[in-house]
Amino acid sequence: MRDALVSGLMAVDEALRQLLALARSEPFTAVEQVALRGADGRVLAEDLCAAIDLPPWANSAMDGYALRLDDLVAQPLRVSQTVFAGQAPEPLQVGTCARVFTGAPVPAGADCVQLQENCEVDAQGRVRSLDALRRGDNIRPQGNEIRARAPLLAAGTVLSPIALGVLASQGFAQLPVLRRPRVALLSSGDELAGEGAALGPGQIYDSNRVVLAALLERLGCEVIDLGCVPDDPLRLRAALTGAEGAELIISSAGVSVGDADCIGALLREDGEVKLWKLAIKPGKPFTFGHVGAVPLLGLPGNPGSALVTFLLLARPYLLARMGVERVEPLRVPVVAGFNWPKAGKRQEYLRVRLDGGRARLLENQSSSTLLSAVLGDGLLEVPAGETFEAGDVLDFIGFAGVGV
Ligand code: AMP
Ligand code: MG
Repeated sequence: MRDALVSGLMAVDEALRQLLALARSEPFTAVEQVALRGADGRVLAEDLCAAIDLPPWANSAMDGYALRLDDLVAQPLRVSQTVFAGQAPEPLQVGTCARVFTGAPVPAGADCVQLQENCEVDAQGRVRSLDALRRGDNIRPQGNEIRARAPLLAAGTVLSPIALGVLASQGFAQLPVLRRPRVALLSSGDELAGEGAALGPGQIYDSNRVVLAALLERLGCEVIDLGCVPDDPLRLRAALTGAEGAELIISSAGVSVGDADCIGALLREDGEVKLWKLAIKPGKPFTFGHVGAVPLLGLPGNPGSALVTFLLLARPYLLARMGVERVEPLRVPVVAGFNWPKAGKRQEYLRVRLDGGRARLLENQSSSTLLSAVLGDGLLEVPAGETFEAGDVLDFIGFAGVGV
């Protein structure tokens, strides 16, 4: 069912497969160097290998006493040195132990660390180990986390705070990352007014461009804002020629049949329509094509549809062009807290809230509203042709996992 054409509509999986193949054939390639501290969310452009062993030297995992196991036959042991983290110890004198603290380099010659709570210190300050020990106990050997020159992070890694921490631990200060993709963004529709404008008769405020610009920026894109463009092929073409240097165009509205279908008309005249009309709800009129040589993702106008198609289709497409490997939203199983007795013809994305581990359906599922999405935690994926009951398990896509 999922791979088949549903009443002339292309299945979401098939559309995504085609989109990703196109994206992989047209990767973004420009690279720039950025400071480690400014690299959060950027995409690594080269494979990186470890520069140093981590830890760079054997160190203590605990506060305690570093000693040589063979010396325990002659305990108590005199403390011959104290080593704090950040100090360089002397080799351990035979028949003695070293006071060490977590992270302190272990003196050469010591082969284990006894925890301080397992030791007894006598009146002369000599140490007796009260608990059994094995060689290597409580020592973090040199290079046991990361070996110098071993592969560290691959090109296409999205640099998260965790990845940046790993690179910081290796001493990287500058990183090769993909230059920010230049994405031209426009809203199409005679009825649209931009933020700050007074509403004329019959007008509504443009919300899609605000949502999409923020989502694109979170993906590391540089947004070329083309504003609101009326449903007029000439004005539309003029706006797009203003998008100099754009590597991708994202539009909303103007792709449905009842509408002037300005975007579709432009694609057919100046380029090519590759995808149109998908078995997705909301979001059926989603369109993909090229204007000249520039790919265009034509999202539907209804704000709920624009959001869903951006997350399910445009975002994976962009990530694939950035060379990222895992581009699809992470799906996790959740228990439905409601019945869905009527099977739909299209794969449906329901806005839900997770309460007590169950997905609760938000009241207004209209494609025209964003309000239910703002109250929700994510989307419940209902395959075409399926029904379910409360207690059944379905795939859930959390907004937090897709940058919302
Ligand atoms: P269309 O795809 O042009 O048929 O638009 C579908 C619906 O979405 C219409 O009700 C439009 O007014 C509305 N719409 C289109 N673009 C936007 C936008 N940028 N922000 C908010 N609503 C929009
Ligand atoms: Mg319209």
